[in-house]
Amino acid sequence: MLSRLLAWAIVVLAGLAAGSWAGAAEQSPIAIPARETPPIIILKLDDLRQLQGGRVHPRWQRVADYLEQKQVKYSIGVICQTLESAHPNYVEWIRSRQESGNVEFWFHGWDHAVHQVDGTKYNEFNGRPYDQQKERLDKAQKLAKEKLGFAFTTFGPPGGEGNGVFNQDTLRVLLDDQDMRVMLYPAPFNDPKPSELTLFARKLVAESQGKLRILDVAWQARLERPLFKPNLEAFMQGYAKLPKRQYFVLQGHPAHWSDESFAEFERFIDFLQSQNALFMTPSEAASAIYPGDSDAAGTNP
Ligand SMILES: [Zn+2]
Repeated sequence: MLSRLLAWAIVVLAGLAAGSWAGAAEQSPIAIPARETPPIIILKLDDLRQLQGGRVHPRWQRVADYLEQKQVKYSIGVICQTLESAHPNYVEWIRSRQESGNVEFWFHGWDHAVHQVDGTKYNEFNGRPYDQQKERLDKAQKLAKEKLGFAFTTFGPPGGEGNGVFNQDTLRVLLDDQDMRVMLYPAPFNDPKPSELTLFARKLVAESQGKLRILDVAWQARLERPLFKPNLEAFMQGYAKLPKRQYFVLQGHPAHWSDESFAEFERFIDFLQSQNALFMTPSEAASAIYPGDSDAAGTNP
């Protein structure tokens, strides 16, 4: 008991000393229970694409500079269509970071566009048959290998205004791709009342014997709430209720962050560092969370 109290006090003092979340704490103090192990944090930053002249959005540059200076590992979801016309500067921006091992770039769709079938709007990986979905992944993998020198091993489905973000065929496409190993799952995977799609996904993932591994979200503990607005206090309320959860996938959209939102993101990182968080790329986290699974895709006996 004493050690738990002491641990809690250290957490509070560390936070106050850093001055990091004092703002949130002043208004509504949130007691963070001591954890037996520090959380694994997967920063899932979405929607990178090339701008004119091979540039990335200045807000991407800002977040990359900041995380690299803080020595925090992170991951970036690439919308792959602009790889077709990738300028050497854009190629270098991605390649140098991937090679550092501190950043993982993952497949976030070909165009991230909403499409219509019989008047119904769908997000990119729903409302399309297997072959069309596979073609989108194949095109992206080919460009990644040719231009960036690596294949994507993680997928996070693109959302938007349309219905659904993936379907059963998406899961089959991932299983059939020789490099894909991790899915950033956009719903709680072990929900006691799973959707039909999640039930199907559980079955397929179990049958894959470690080929495809799932990193899911906890609705209670997200980075942005509402969408596009980092919100540390909302996160802390959920985080405080999940002291046994091993990892958190934190989804953000840096190109949408105002200066104020970026400052909130900085407070997030300070808070997580005060929790001794282990920042990992999705692939690293999957290996840490599912240690029995081979990393060599498809070579399990
Ligand atoms: Zn997106």
